[in-house]
Amino acid sequence: MDVKKIYMDADALLEGHFKLSSANHSKYYLQSAKVLEDPKTAKILAQALAREIKASGLKIDTVCAPALGGLIAGFALASALDVRSIFAERVDGEMTIRRGFEITKGERVLMCEDIITTGGSAMEAAHVVESLGGTIVGVAALANRGFCKRENSDIETKPNCKLPQNIPFFALEDFTFEMYSPEDCPLCKDGSKAIKPGSRGN
Ligand code: ZN
Repeated sequence: MDVKKIYMDADALLEGHFKLSSANHSKYYLQSAKVLEDPKTAKILAQALAREIKASGLKIDTVCAPALGGLIAGFALASALDVRSIFAERVDGEMTIRRGFEITKGERVLMCEDIITTGGSAMEAAHVVESLGGTIVGVAALANRGFCKRENSDIETKPNCKLPQNIPFFALEDFTFEMYSPEDCPLCKDGSKAIKPGSRGN
């Protein structure tokens, strides 16, 4: 499956000059919401991810996604795996599990994001799941930004990866484009201005 092409075709892999949530600048931006706006595409991607997870033999009771980014990917993946789908959300900056979602002791939970950069949000949500008695058995994402090593990829884990090394991380594709600090950004030096993706006009 050519995941890059699917992202390009959906205008979900943008080229320009972007200011990322980490404050770094980049020539590219992944807008997974755009690739998931077509339910058929979401289903195809989630099924491919589910096949890889099933092939590993990992047993999963529940998929948990951090809102908002992971919601659609998490639901689509849970559907493809035929397991329960829940989500965590931030309230006043703190990741929490609300909405009456319950987790039983020892429940095997797979964390799911649309994109894993360093895995920070996924792990914040994972700690909440663990505090409620759940066991995190793996992490999944449609796309990997290349800081963490996923199953079946040669890319090595970078120091800023926050995912634990003792559980598997599944993703369909590595998107390892460069990021620059604003002071060292060659695009800024060329005189263009970084825009925040998702803001008006993008
Ligand atoms: Zn720049």
